[in-house]
Amino acid sequence: MRAYLHAIEARSRANGPGARMVVWFQGCTLGCVGCFNPATHVAGRAEHDVATVAAQIAAATGIEGLTLSGGEPMQQIDAAIELLGAARAAGLSTLMFSGYTLAEIRELPRGLEAVALLDVLVDGRFRTDLRLGQGLRGSSNQQVHLLTDRYTTSDIDDAPLGEVRIAPNGDVILTGVTPLKLKR
Ligand code: SF4
Repeated sequence: MRAYLHAIEARSRANGPGARMVVWFQGCTLGCVGCFNPATHVAGRAEHDVATVAAQIAAATGIEGLTLSGGEPMQQIDAAIELLGAARAAGLSTLMFSGYTLAEIRELPRGLEAVALLDVLVDGRFRTDLRLGQGLRGSSNQQVHLLTDRYTTSDIDDAPLGEVRIAPNGDVILTGVTPLKLKR
């Protein structure tokens, strides 16, 4: 199976509790005004072999979980399920940011399978008029669903607002819900 993925980060601290691998999907049609990552909207770019990424997840060390973000992971739901399944099989926790609400995901083909593989879902469209930027929520209409007992609300709230990474080629990469509010 192939999937369009925007980026893969082997270890992040600002995309959920603890150290996590993050997979950003490429492609999103939901069109939230003020989206933080418009470069992820166009589908059909950056094709990856999903089995290879799943093997990378299975072999990962020094992380406690996998986070899926976007772009929109649920617009490539078969790939998302394969990656979440690989994380579960490896004993990793799972978290997903989705522009769809939990109710909408449950109505998607294979939506219930995806939900069953998640420990945490942060759901809903980003709304710039309700900008929040804390507790993993970009805007206050979004909700954090603790779908298993693996994490508590305080685990979610303790996630850093953002992080700055410097890639080997010198690129500076900002991630997290409010990376520009990082304390000095
Ligand atoms: S769902 Fe996410 S990636 Fe898609 S437009 Fe909204 S904020 Fe951007």
